[in-house]
Amino acid sequence: MQNRLFIDGRFVDALSGRTIDVLNPHDGSLITRVAAAEAADVDRAVEAATRAFPAWSKRDAAERGRLLLKLADRIDECTQELAELESLDTGHPIRDSRGIDVPRTAACFRYFGGMADKIEGSVIPVESGFLNYVRRAPIGVVGQIVPWNFPLMFTSWKMGPALAAGNTVVLKPSEITPLSSLRIAELMAEVGFPEGVVNMVPGYGVSAGQRLAEHPGVGKICFTGSTATGRRIVAASQGNLKRVQLELGGKGANIVFEDAPLEAAINGAAWAIFHNQGQACIAGSRLLLHERIADEFLERFIALARSIRIGNPLDPQTEMGPLTSAEHHQRVLQYVQIAHNEGGRLLAGGQRPAAFPDGYYLEPTVVAAQPTDRVAQEEVFGPFVTVLRFSDDEQALAIANGTEYGLGSGLWTRDLSRAHRMASAINAGMCWINCYKRVNPASPFGGIGRSGYGREMGFEAIHDYTEARSVWVNVDATVPPYYRR
Ligand code: NDP
Repeated sequence: MQNRLFIDGRFVDALSGRTIDVLNPHDGSLITRVAAAEAADVDRAVEAATRAFPAWSKRDAAERGRLLLKLADRIDECTQELAELESLDTGHPIRDSRGIDVPRTAACFRYFGGMADKIEGSVIPVESGFLNYVRRAPIGVVGQIVPWNFPLMFTSWKMGPALAAGNTVVLKPSEITPLSSLRIAELMAEVGFPEGVVNMVPGYGVSAGQRLAEHPGVGKICFTGSTATGRRIVAASQGNLKRVQLELGGKGANIVFEDAPLEAAINGAAWAIFHNQGQACIAGSRLLLHERIADEFLERFIALARSIRIGNPLDPQTEMGPLTSAEHHQRVLQYVQIAHNEGGRLLAGGQRPAAFPDGYYLEPTVVAAQPTDRVAQEEVFGPFVTVLRFSDDEQALAIANGTEYGLGSGLWTRDLSRAHRMASAINAGMCWINCYKRVNPASPFGGIGRSGYGREMGFEAIHDYTEARSVWVNVDATVPPYYRR
């Protein structure tokens, strides 16, 4: 298990020698201690990435792609090991780590590996006598900050497009869940990524993260996390006017109309909020129910929620594990109290299951509330769904668009016109119709409003990791273009 910083192709201790405890969310026991990067370590990593940039960016694009493809194959070969590491560190049920996180990580690196030599420029139709072409050039050293909720997958979402486009990377995994990212660094060294192309500096946000965001040698910072920290990143980035890409919180509206395919909607709504213990920015954390079907829906939804198998993440039968950290567990529990204080009705859950006194577990929790309540406005980021009722499409839309966020959204209906009408009217970066939480490396992922800006995945991501460089050619250089005498 790697637990040190990865800088310039080697695993090294932090300069200060300090470490941070990495705990098992199942029982709070110590897994390992990870080296704690601070500003000076980040500086070393940026220096290594800066040295590596000229050769990496000039390398044949197909060669860069080939390394990413080799990495994807190695990840497939290491599926079981990576899944166990991710489950141990984050609390993801192993069935999800093995069936979702690892395959999606490999798929993402593979997609961008294939794209590396297809990043084409363009020729612009300008006035005759001139040729204008545009190249897409890498930015340089990019800083990437990965949160604790999907560390393995987000490592691929961030590094895949950046590396394919010819950038070098300094990535800060969350100090709470650094293990799978560090293992990816090890696999990258093994398949032949040159020294310094990828560097990893797990450490606290206020020191390592802050330094990465403000570093004058970093051309772009890409961050996933809370809106509050996103604002700090923007402020820190000002010094060298670096590019910023933000993937922040969400308060996904999942709308079930009266004509919805009910069985699928119930199942999909449960998946939308309870997958990964609700620790997902795109979670369907607001469940909007048409008043005509609300009672029947809730009865069946709550029965399903109560049947979800909670347990040790490493048990293949487990469907819901613990929250990822003790601090976050407390934060989510506080929202049960907040709901109570605001007059919300607790319909299910709200307790730590008695069987797991030491782990950071929480029962699937269902609360009925009003659209303006805090639990309907703020991101809880746990297995906690807020139920809201509506009577017509206009009211559903007003509730759906009634938060500052705009990331994921969903709707369930058999009416095709309504589905497309609503999908275009909901203020969100993504909308799922009769499904929820579908992601694919080819499809752009990101939000609007307080959910951030820029997109991960697809061509959008590649564009966000390149600069358009415009070149003008006077096609007949014998004709002086200005002072003709
Ligand atoms: P943060 O946004 O504080 O942390 C996310 C990452 O950013 C962590 O690696 C963190 O490091 C780092 N960070 C913190 N401060 C800075 C800084 N000043 N400069 C650079 N990096 C920094 O989220 P939390 O972990 O505190 O979770 C709080 C809430 O944020 C959650 O309840 C959830 O609502 C939301 N969140 C959203 C995520 C998403 O997927 N969009 C992911 C994670 C959280 P450190 O851990 O040391 O603070």
